[in-house]
Amino acid sequence: MTYPQTRTCIERITPYVPGKPIDEVKREFGISDVIKLASNENPLGPSPAACKAMANAAANMAIYPDGACFALKEKLAAHLGVPAGSLVIGNGSDEVIKLIAEAFLDSGDEGVYADPSFSEYPYVLRLMGAKECVIPLVDFTHDLDAMADAVGDATKIVFVCNPNNPTGTIVDGPSLQAFVDKIPQDVLIILDEAYYEYVDDPSYPQTLAWALERPNIVVLRTFSKVYGLAGLRVGYGVANPKLAAWINRVKEPFNVNAMGQIAAIAALEDQDHVQRSIEVNRQGKGYLYDEFKKLGLKYVPTQANFIYVDLARPCDAVFKGLLKQGVIIRKGDAFGQPTFIRVTIGTQEQNQRFIGALEAVL
Ligand code: PMP
Repeated sequence: MTYPQTRTCIERITPYVPGKPIDEVKREFGISDVIKLASNENPLGPSPAACKAMANAAANMAIYPDGACFALKEKLAAHLGVPAGSLVIGNGSDEVIKLIAEAFLDSGDEGVYADPSFSEYPYVLRLMGAKECVIPLVDFTHDLDAMADAVGDATKIVFVCNPNNPTGTIVDGPSLQAFVDKIPQDVLIILDEAYYEYVDDPSYPQTLAWALERPNIVVLRTFSKVYGLAGLRVGYGVANPKLAAWINRVKEPFNVNAMGQIAAIAALEDQDHVQRSIEVNRQGKGYLYDEFKKLGLKYVPTQANFIYVDLARPCDAVFKGLLKQGVIIRKGDAFGQPTFIRVTIGTQEQNQRFIGALEAVL
C-alpha cells in the first residue's frame, strides 16, 4: 500500500513515552495495590474545594467552555499580580509551549535547549521543522553561558527549564538575569517554571516582572503539579500583553475545558492545600535523601517534587523489579542516562513503600 506522505519534519518526532499507567501495571502483574511515582503528580490529589466545585459543575457540561477563560484569568491575574492580558491559558503548559511554537517558528528557525531536559522542547521544534541546538547540562544544571553563546542569527527561541526536569536543579537569579540580558530581544526566552511553587532556594529568580517588562519572555506555570489537577490539563504562560496576544491568536476556540477552568479557580482559592502539598514534599524530600544516603546512592539535590538518583548500575532491571512490587518510577533511559531513575516524592507512606521495594530489588 502507498500511504500519503507526511510532512518531512514529522519523521524526526519520536512518540512521547509517558510514565506507565497504574491500570496497565495492575493488569500486567496481576496486583491491585500500585503506586505511581513516575509523573511528578501531587500525591495529595486536588484540593477538596476543587473536587466540590467540579461535582457541582458536572450537570453543566453540555455547554461549551468560555474560550477566553475570563473568570480564571481574572482570578489568576489577581493571584500573580499581573494584568489578565498577559496570560495565555492552555490545555496544560504543554499546549502553551506548542502555541508559542506555532505562533513564532518557521521551518529553518533554530531553538536552543538543554539536555537532559523536558521533551516537549525538541518535540515542538521538530513539529515546526525548526533546527535544534542541544547544550548538555553541566553538573546536572543548565550551562547558561554555553546556551547564550549558541544563540546565533537563526536562533528564534531558547528554553530554560527552571527547576529542570528531570534533574530538579535551578539556575539562580543573578545568572538568569545576566543570561536574559545577553539574549537579543528578537529571540524568545521560555522560562518553564512548572515546579515553581516547590522551590525553597532563596536565590531562585522571580521572573514575572521580567516577562511583563520585556518583549521576548514567556514564563510557564501549571495547575498540574502543586495544584494537583494534572488530569484536567490547565497550564499557563505569562508574557508582555502584546506577545501574549500573538500566542493567543493561534489557539483553538475552546482549548481549555470547562471542568478545568472551574477546578483551577477553586484550587487557586485554596492556598492551604498548596501549602500542605509543599510541606508534604519538603518532608518527603528529607526522608528520601536520608534513605538514599543509607543505601549509598548518589542523588541530585532537588528544588522540585522529584529526585534524580544514580543507581550506578543499569536501571532497567531495578525498574522492572519495582514494577513487580507495584511501584512505578521513571527510567533514566528516557533522558539518555540509563543508570539514573527519576522518582516523584510521594506521601510518607508511598515514600516508605518505594524505599522498601528499592532495598529489596537492590
Ligand atoms: N514543563 C515541565 C518542566 C514539566 O515537567 C511538565 C510536566 N511533565 C510540563 C511543563 C507540562 O505540564 P502540563 O502540560 O501538565 O501543564
